[in-house]
Amino acid sequence: MYSAVGVVVGLQTLWGYSTARSVKIGGTRPISPTMPRPIQATIHTQALAHNLSRCRHYAPDARVWAVVKANAYGHGIERVFDGLRGADGFALLDLAEAQRVRALGWRGPVLLLEGVFELRDLELCSRLDLWHTVHCEQQIDMLAAHKTNVPQRVFLKMNSGMNRLGFRPEQYRSAWTRLNALPQVDEISHMTHFSDADGPKGVAAQMAVFENATRDLPGERTVSNSAGVLRHAGVPAASDWVRPGIAVYGSAPDYPENDAQHWSLLPTMTLEAKIIAVQNLQAGDTVGYGSSFSAEGPMRIGVVACGYADGYPRICPTGTPVLVDGVRSRTVGRVSMDMLSVDLSALPTARPGSSVTLWGRAANGTILGIDEVAAMAGTLSYELMCGLAARVPVVVTE
Ligand SMILES: *Cc1c(COP(=O)(O)O)cnc(C)c1O
Repeated sequence: MYSAVGVVVGLQTLWGYSTARSVKIGGTRPISPTMPRPIQATIHTQALAHNLSRCRHYAPDARVWAVVKANAYGHGIERVFDGLRGADGFALLDLAEAQRVRALGWRGPVLLLEGVFELRDLELCSRLDLWHTVHCEQQIDMLAAHKTNVPQRVFLKMNSGMNRLGFRPEQYRSAWTRLNALPQVDEISHMTHFSDADGPKGVAAQMAVFENATRDLPGERTVSNSAGVLRHAGVPAASDWVRPGIAVYGSAPDYPENDAQHWSLLPTMTLEAKIIAVQNLQAGDTVGYGSSFSAEGPMRIGVVACGYADGYPRICPTGTPVLVDGVRSRTVGRVSMDMLSVDLSALPTARPGSSVTLWGRAANGTILGIDEVAAMAGTLSYELMCGLAARVPVVVTE
């Protein structure tokens, strides 16, 4: 029986990307790369590097953690690593992901944004030299019980108003004092997280709380996520480290008030599929499950090899933007598991095999912002990126 002995890194595909290659891992025969369906995601390495430099532009005096939690926002930690090598550190929260960052050869800072979950995690922190957040008393208890000769660097987290993780301002100093007395602890930095950096409420109130409670304590500070970095450019000045995530992945943290173009951010993920069938409709003909779309007159539609099982939101209504061969059009009817339909009325040359960009950059350079698609689905780009399905082949390009 045929046995797969290779791992495909970058599928040789119908799209013909020259960077596609297959890598053998410990086997004798490479498997010939196959494309199960004409759908593919592309990760754009240069766009990652560009977006990182945009974040630096807004926070010139701060060091930058590239946030790579949730498998680099669905992109894949190994796939974004080249593009984000220029970061000062990587922030994430899954210990297995921290191991993957170290396995890539990264020797710089790695920060666990939620800290450790159990005592034995501290051994991994010692072994892999991970810096970790301390947001609750239990984590201080674990540190006190941890047997190590190498003191660890920690980021003490304040709950300055978001009420998710952290010590309240009035408990913060005693937490710091307790930590500071532990031989297991080296440097203590200060950290908080904004709830409203992307909106009208802003960050001033939380910043005042944080500054008041940390004013006379030694140590570095980190406060800003993407929206904090881009929208509150004065605040990172008070921050030794900033922690942009979504901006690194080319999406505006404050869409629709501003879009990615406004912040000069470039898409880092393209989702692209092909038309696999064309239907010519007459007035009154309907499309897809539930017959939710009905043609007003004669029209052509294309059936695209992408559905909700690929991570394209089922909730996207008729009219959600797509690019067909780089030209803007719209979806029609309901998204099904493996397919969706697009309007080809204004695209007489589109045919089976034509490329449809669901989000990201088309071959002709036209961009369809993931933020626009996410808004049609009533959600954020974060969720679309993270929701890219495992069955979608992914290639990495320059
Ligand atoms: C996810 C996260 C970030 C990054 O947030 P973005 O909105 O993606 O920039 C920063 N800090 C913490 C603590 C986070 O959990």
